[in-house]
Amino acid sequence: MMTVSPGSSTRVRREVRPTDQLPEGATSSKARPIISFTARRRGKAPSHLADLDLDGRKKVLSEVGFPAFRADQLSRHYFEHGVADPELMSDVPASMREVVSQTLLPHLITKVTSLRADDGETIKDLWELFDGARVESVLMRYPNRTTLCISSQAGCGMACPFCATGQMGLTRNLSTAEIVDQVRLARLACAEGALSEGPTHLSNVVFMGMGEPLANYRTVVQALHRLVDPAPEGFGMSARNITVSTVGLVPSIDRLAGEGIPVTLAVSLHAPDDDLRDELIPINSRWKVGELLDAARRYFVATGRRVSIEYALIRDMNDQPWRAQLLADELNRRGHGWVHVNPIPLNPTPGSIWTASTRRAQNEFVETLRASGIVTTIRDTRGSDIDGACGQLATAVQNRERNQSTGHAPVRPNTQEAR
Ligand code: SF4
Repeated sequence: MMTVSPGSSTRVRREVRPTDQLPEGATSSKARPIISFTARRRGKAPSHLADLDLDGRKKVLSEVGFPAFRADQLSRHYFEHGVADPELMSDVPASMREVVSQTLLPHLITKVTSLRADDGETIKDLWELFDGARVESVLMRYPNRTTLCISSQAGCGMACPFCATGQMGLTRNLSTAEIVDQVRLARLACAEGALSEGPTHLSNVVFMGMGEPLANYRTVVQALHRLVDPAPEGFGMSARNITVSTVGLVPSIDRLAGEGIPVTLAVSLHAPDDDLRDELIPINSRWKVGELLDAARRYFVATGRRVSIEYALIRDMNDQPWRAQLLADELNRRGHGWVHVNPIPLNPTPGSIWTASTRRAQNEFVETLRASGIVTTIRDTRGSDIDGACGQLATAVQNRERNQSTGHAPVRPNTQEAR
């Protein structure tokens, strides 16, 4: 549990959980916040075609007595046409469909609710997984691209105090196929014209929904392969159009740099100094700002991909011009042209102490960065009227369901995701 008091000197009191498991490279600390890398649930999602590469799919088919070439056929249905129900595959023998639906194409995720915002240019979906765990994804249409924000974990163990998902804790890691199926369903929704202005093509995917992607590392890397590898292996998306965000798991950033998949790395920084970042992002107690920016720079050198720095502007907390200057100095000290800063005003949420910066403070922050030569783009806040920030919809629906049975008035979550 975390407690906060209002004002610019807000402090976050943290409890110590002695059983926390630390990731590779982490050190023990007595003043440890409630960070968890251990899932509360142990259940595994049913094994699925998208968990496996093509050879793996062939092997499964051979084991149940079907020819290996069917793996290519099933994979093209799934990745090229978005079809996941064997009953809809007319070129697959009827005698094979039941076995395929059990071995390679079990039903994985079911829509709980879907909300539209921004004149139909944003759709937020809440999905239920096989064990009742729930995750969110958000589809957003822009003039020059359509982007899907996906979840990599149910809940999150990073405990960022301003984030609805962080307050849930980590329920469990998603499987590769549970991540990939969010993309398949979004591609179908785009093609079917679910967003305003008719059919479109899903061009971009960002891992900025529920969860810390690098805490579910192996699964996320496999999902990246399914996204970028061409059919029949995967969707064949451009790695340049995929972004993986992190709050700063430094060893995993270095690992990702060596995977040969040049996705964009987004670092959710939110503060350029350790004093404040220790409060906003508990994992900063393990890897400090300097170590994180060094790793981000190494990622740029290894992949040639410019790194994004995400910075939620929170009123009177991290939005001072001196912090903008400190951020610019820290980035410039590591070179020029390797990084791009995306400040994003925090979505104001009723009852929360975490509120967005004033327009004037935002402008001053951006101008300070630009005056120091840092490429800076203010990101828009999509879906702020539909519990738009990550974790809010799941929490709101859970509260509604609970209140329907207790008769209590709905409670809006007072935390905010800003990645
Ligand atoms: S901000 Fe991101 S890393 Fe932090 S608790 Fe929320 S989902 Fe997890």
